[in-house]
Amino acid sequence: MSRTVLVTGGNRGIGLTIARSFAENGDKVAITHRSGEAPEGLFGVRCDVRDPEAARRAVNEVEAQYGPVGVLVANAGITRDALAPTMREEDFEDVIGTNLVGSFRMARLVSRSMISAKWGRIVFISSIMGFLGSPGQSNYAASKSGMLGLTRSLAWELGSRNITVNMVTPGLIETEMIQAVTDKRRAQLLSQTPLRRTGTPQEVADVVTFLAGDGAAYVTGAALPVGGGIGMGQ
Ligand code: NDP
Repeated sequence: MSRTVLVTGGNRGIGLTIARSFAENGDKVAITHRSGEAPEGLFGVRCDVRDPEAARRAVNEVEAQYGPVGVLVANAGITRDALAPTMREEDFEDVIGTNLVGSFRMARLVSRSMISAKWGRIVFISSIMGFLGSPGQSNYAASKSGMLGLTRSLAWELGSRNITVNMVTPGLIETEMIQAVTDKRRAQLLSQTPLRRTGTPQEVADVVTFLAGDGAAYVTGAALPVGGGIGMGQ
């Protein structure tokens, strides 16, 4: 059955790879993009997830095009790194507002039609840094660990309607986001990674499509690491 899938921040990086993977599976895939054009072959709606009105409009546009959203991948995320004593409060709030509030906002918007349909899949893209903590990333780590409470609360709220809510916690994945990571920090993180390499966006996408698929119908409230073993047992 072809489902309507919405991937936020699906114009590049991990989000784009996730979107293409769902499309290859035969799903109807929509992505949100903040600027520029939608990637070739994907239906795109312009949306800054920090803007409640834009988020509502985006979901309405997707539903008008493809019908109610059955699968949401809340992927849009940013970093604004600085050590806490020098971090500007607006950078803390911006990261929480995008990564955590933005994810909640999109989940809330799509959950209504999932409840009516008595079926749905929500996958949040968190980060292992939410569990390990990370110097210079108090805002980012707080936003990503906050997603655990969000995931598990929604899993409780929506479970009786056959809606699963899970999150993945990627380690170091090769995208533009990690271009700013210093060689020293990269080596440090890889020394804590049993597989001793960075991951690819496809390796994250494969786990996300699994969580949204029939094979994961009995999985909810899970935090699934995709990090080559970094932070195992967190
Ligand atoms: P990128 O920086 O490559 O992509 C981030 C995406 O999020 C872009 O599409 C960007 O849109 C979008 N985005 C950012 N802010 C907003 C906003 N306010 N509204 C709408 N869209 C927004 O990062 P990755 O692909 O690496 O990261 C994707 C997710 O995976 C993020 O949540 C990140 O935290 C998480 N992650 C990444 C890891 C990594 O090592 N790469 C590790 C662990 C987690 P635009 O193009 O307009 O900027």
